[in-house]
Amino acid sequence: MGSSPSSEDISTLMSSEYQLRRELADIARRVYDRGLVAGTDGNISARVQGDTFLISPSGSCLGMLEPNDFVRIDMAGRAIGGQGRPSSERWMHIAAYAERPGVQAAIHAHPPTVIAFTVAGLTFSQCSLPEVILAFGQVPITSYATPATEEGAVVIRDLIKKFDALVLDRHGSITVGKTLKDAFFKLEKLEHGAHVMLMAHQLGTARDLPPEEIAKLAALREQLGLGKASDVSGTCLPPGTVLPTRVVRGDERY
Ligand SMILES: [Zn+2]
Repeated sequence: MGSSPSSEDISTLMSSEYQLRRELADIARRVYDRGLVAGTDGNISARVQGDTFLISPSGSCLGMLEPNDFVRIDMAGRAIGGQGRPSSERWMHIAAYAERPGVQAAIHAHPPTVIAFTVAGLTFSQCSLPEVILAFGQVPITSYATPATEEGAVVIRDLIKKFDALVLDRHGSITVGKTLKDAFFKLEKLEHGAHVMLMAHQLGTARDLPPEEIAKLAALREQLGLGKASDVSGTCLPPGTVLPTRVVRGDERY
C-alpha cells in the first residue's frame, strides 16, 4: 500500500510546478517575440508528471501569458486545474505525449517561412543544411488538417513517433523536446533553416550536399545520440544506399 504524500512532498511538487509555469511563460514570450506566431496563434505545453500537462489557454497571446494562466489538463484533454479553457489544439499536444513518453514539452507555432514553403507546394529541403540533417534527420510534412480540431492529432500521430519536428501542411509546425528550451530551439532551427533555403532559392540555386556527406551526417547523428542514422531522408541519398552506423575516423573509408 502506498503512503500519502507528505506536506513536504506537496510543497516540492507545487514549487516545481510553479517553476515550470514560469518557464512556460518565458518560452511562450520568446516564441511570440521571434515572430514564430502572430496574435493569438500557437500553443505551448509541458508535462508536469505522468499524464498531467500544462497548456496555454485557448485564445491567448503567447507573448502575454503569466505563469498562473496555464491550464492543467489530463490525457483526455479535460481541464483539471487553472482558469480558462485549454487550447483548442490540445489534441495535437496530447497525441505527441501519448506517442512519446520521453517528451516533456511541445510547441505548436506558425513559423512564416516554413508555412510559405507548404503554401507554395515546395518541400523544405532536407538535403542542403548539415545542422538540419543532424538535428532532425528529416522534417516530414503532414497531411492538411483543419486547425483547432482533433484532425491535428490524427495527422501527426504516426510521424511524431519518430521525428521531433513536423511541418503541418499550410498551417505551421509542431516541435517536441526533452525540455521546453529543447522544443523551442528546434522550432527556431526549423524556421531559420527554411529562411536560409528561401534566400538560396531567391539567389537562384539551392544546392544539395553530396550523398556521401549526407551519409556521414547520418552516422554522426547516431553517434551523438540525436537519433537513428536511418531517420535521415532517403530522398537525399541514392536508392539502395546503406547508411553507416558509425563515424569513419582517420584514414578509414566507407
Ligand atoms: Zn495553429
